[in-house]
Amino acid sequence: MTFSEKPVLVFWETTKACPLSCVHCRASAILGPVPGELTTEEGMRVIDQVKSFGTPPPVLVFTGGDPLMRADLPRLLAYAKRLGVPFAVSPAVSRNLTDGVLADLRDMGASSISISLDGAGAETHDSIRRVAGTFELSLDRVRTATDLGVNVQVNTAVMKANLRELPAMLDLVRGLGVEIWELFFLIQVGRGSGVADLTPAEYESACNFAYDASRRGVVVRCVEAPFIRRVASRRSAAGDYWRDEGYLAMSRGLGGAAGGLAPSTLGPRGTLDGDGIIFVGHDGTINPGGLLPVPLGNVKDDDLAAVYRTDPLLNKIRGREFSGPCGRCSYSGVCGGSRARAYAYSGDPLGSDPACLLSGASA
Ligand code: SF4
Repeated sequence: MTFSEKPVLVFWETTKACPLSCVHCRASAILGPVPGELTTEEGMRVIDQVKSFGTPPPVLVFTGGDPLMRADLPRLLAYAKRLGVPFAVSPAVSRNLTDGVLADLRDMGASSISISLDGAGAETHDSIRRVAGTFELSLDRVRTATDLGVNVQVNTAVMKANLRELPAMLDLVRGLGVEIWELFFLIQVGRGSGVADLTPAEYESACNFAYDASRRGVVVRCVEAPFIRRVASRRSAAGDYWRDEGYLAMSRGLGGAAGGLAPSTLGPRGTLDGDGIIFVGHDGTINPGGLLPVPLGNVKDDDLAAVYRTDPLLNKIRGREFSGPCGRCSYSGVCGGSRARAYAYSGDPLGSDPACLLSGASA
């Protein structure tokens, strides 16, 4: 599977405005919009450009900030629907996410919405989201959306503050009846630059846990930890559990699965920033991904599909032209390391991912 002609997902940061103020926010979102956000007409041109990738078009993810802070969101979604561009919406959980809004998103054809749960309880979640009551409201919104027939995925930003809660969070996700759990591993950009990162051993523990979770009836996706595929490959081939104390503590919290363990829901190959993913910022700037702020052009002047297909950096990412351990690694094809983390640490988006245990070793 290659993503050289079109991405799977196009993310559009519709606004930086958001009623929350999360500690790790990539967008450094604030309460109100910042100057330069794309107008409704410019947003429609973004949708045109997504359509122009060809049939079927990539899924367009309306993200932010909080896309519900844009008054023209219904118009934009209706336009995407009319053009046959599939879309998903990533709203912030606030009082703006009413039952009526959820029903509207369903009726307008959103393929899914994502709701964040960053802790197994209110103490952790609300301290990360920095608005009291958000945890209980998030649970309520997941249940209501599910009852309304909206396809919900739960997103979790994994960091030191919630690493040990992952087993309880898996139970929570399963108990909510949610089928997709997307784990976002911290990249130190935006407000996240002040949040402590996991150690490589902790990343390895978390990936082993994610592999376990993927065999328990939940579709697990890992963002910015592509070395999950190295872990999954080794685990499925030889059952060589990673036996550090951190992982063993997490694995003790794992329950069984009704009917026994299933094959892992992790796909054989995922996406990287610029390889299956492209990002349009609030002002139209094109980046390889939302966590990799290297400007490649602007949708006001450049054609998104042409940039995706021909940009030299993206072609090097897709060709796995990396330096250091990621460049020598036998798992590079299925992994490739987080390009965003390589950039955040070294300033080189083609460098090695320092979170991987193999980084620094001659893999
Ligand atoms: S060294 Fe790089 S390519 Fe290899 S498994 Fe680690 S992150 Fe992936």
